[in-house]
Amino acid sequence: MGYIRKEDVIRRCEAVKHLAEMRIEEWRGHTTEYKEQVSCQEAFDREREMRDMIMFLYDLPDEDVKENIHGKWIWNLGREYECYCSNCKTSVSEKASRKMRFCPYCGIDMR
Ligand SMILES: [Zn+2]
Repeated sequence: MGYIRKEDVIRRCEAVKHLAEMRIEEWRGHTTEYKEQVSCQEAFDREREMRDMIMFLYDLPDEDVKENIHGKWIWNLGREYECYCSNCKTSVSEKASRKMRFCPYCGIDMR
């Protein structure tokens, strides 16, 4: 299973919430006659749902995802005594890679 970043989901919810808020704002600016004829309930519902969802997401515990993801040093076939990180593709010398438990560039666990 892949991972999704909490802040990405929150950002998406914020965007949907913002659209609903704009719709509500626009609706509020209309005349009373218009407001009686045209419902804005959908936008109110969506705004509330997104607000609840954002609060729920903020309350979710942060998992230390990095602990669960491992990378490995891959031999760079084109160049001798060199290998690169499977995650960020940065090259290091083969000698140095043997001592490193973490990639110094992206921090992924190499153990
Ligand atoms: Zn790396």
